[in-house]
Amino acid sequence: MKENQPEHSVQPTQQRGKLSPLSKLVERPSLIFDFFEEELEQRGSWFIRLRWLAVIGSFGAYLIGKFVFNLLLLDFYIIGLIIFIVAYNTLFYFYDRHLWAKKKDITVTRSYHFFVHLQIFLDLVSLAALLHFTGGIENPFFFYFVFHMIIASILLRPVDSFIQATIAVVLINCVLFGEATGTLNHHPLGLFPQIGEYFTNFSFVTIYSIAICSTLYFAVFMATSITRQLRQKERDLHSITERLREQTRQLIEANRVLQELDARKSRFLRRVEHELRAPLSAVQSMLKIICDGYVESNPEKIKDLIARAEKRTLALLKMVGDLLHLSRLQDVSVPIKETRFDVVELFKGIYEYHKQIALEKEIQIEAHFPDKPVYIEADERQLDNVFTNVVNNAIKYTEKGGSVFVDVTTEGNNLKIKVKDTGIGIAEEDQGKIFEEFHRAPNAIEKGFAGSGLGLSIVKQIVENYGGTINVESELGKGSEFTINIPLKR
Ligand code: ADP
Repeated sequence: MKENQPEHSVQPTQQRGKLSPLSKLVERPSLIFDFFEEELEQRGSWFIRLRWLAVIGSFGAYLIGKFVFNLLLLDFYIIGLIIFIVAYNTLFYFYDRHLWAKKKDITVTRSYHFFVHLQIFLDLVSLAALLHFTGGIENPFFFYFVFHMIIASILLRPVDSFIQATIAVVLINCVLFGEATGTLNHHPLGLFPQIGEYFTNFSFVTIYSIAICSTLYFAVFMATSITRQLRQKERDLHSITERLREQTRQLIEANRVLQELDARKSRFLRRVEHELRAPLSAVQSMLKIICDGYVESNPEKIKDLIARAEKRTLALLKMVGDLLHLSRLQDVSVPIKETRFDVVELFKGIYEYHKQIALEKEIQIEAHFPDKPVYIEADERQLDNVFTNVVNNAIKYTEKGGSVFVDVTTEGNNLKIKVKDTGIGIAEEDQGKIFEEFHRAPNAIEKGFAGSGLGLSIVKQIVENYGGTINVESELGKGSEFTINIPLKR
């Protein structure tokens, strides 16, 4: 017998108690972290662009200072420092592009933190050097350190911003006290000679230092608090957008499923109409023959026509009954009457009944049941239906001289039913379709086996309602094996 293909396996359509994709998204803690990292990477590039503006501004300030205010500027050091900033910003620009190229790599995020720290550090050193060469305490642009504190608060975590503020404080004090103690040369601007006299005055330098340093720490404190709030709002917005996107995706999917179901329902109704119309027309024409008096003189013929009409009507009634049964099974609002019963006892009774039919048809039949009772909580009639259908089919589609083997076992929490026969078999292309309503394999029709094509659809629906599976393995002309798994406890 051939291995069964995966598409011939019928899986349960719904798994209760599972987390929906939406809840998984809400539960995902890494989302906020990912978002922060992404934001950091984008703003890192913005920082590099901003530095080009600072370079132009510094050069402009140098020209204005030199030619408008006639300041005593050390051209060599100032131009050298500006070139130094241009050089490292060019390197940063290319390194940033390199990081963007391999953005998805996990180590890149760590590199980005280091990268931003390095940028701010070099800026602080350059600014301190620039101020030292342009008058030190005489230069009011000392307050430009505040800009870096704000940038650090935007780009880095609060603790990192305070680290950068401390680096700035150390550099500022190195310049101020270095010049005050004579460790560093003072380079006067020549514009404010009175202030220049104060650069060695420790009280003045200390007050100046306290004013600048407290401003820096206070700026970091304010900027990080505001940034934290803004970042939280941004994260909330981001997660809402993500959830909305997910919900939209789910709605589109649900809509697609609904459209598919709608099309399936229409196909099903057309099929029902066709299946009901054929026997009804046959019965109607048989009755018409009798009513129009064509067989008036032949009572035997009348009897035969009435018997045939009754047979078709009974088949019709069975079909209508099966259809109603199927629609009740598909309707989730219909409550299931569950009781606890011994499934082995139930199946043994059904088997004994079918054994007689098999023997009459000269088919060998054998069965194996568990020695002990197996209790299940389910609708007894529904499990009766499942077992009856598959055993009945095995006998029906097996010709004289063939054999049928029934095996009922338990495997963990599963009740396993195997029904194997040496009957007509099912072609591979039909194996997936026999669980659809009204589908009958051509070999079954050709060989004249009666049936409606509804039995296995009912079986499949019942098995799925209990969270179980049904599979078929079959080879044309050799036989079939149906395997059903139903959980004993749900
Ligand atoms: P029915 O037997 O009334 O036609 P079912 O839904 O029970 O309807 O089965 C659908 C089709 O599956 C059958 O018409 C037949 O072609 C095929 N089939 C089911 N069981 C067997 C079997 N044991 N051996 C061969 N074919 C089978």
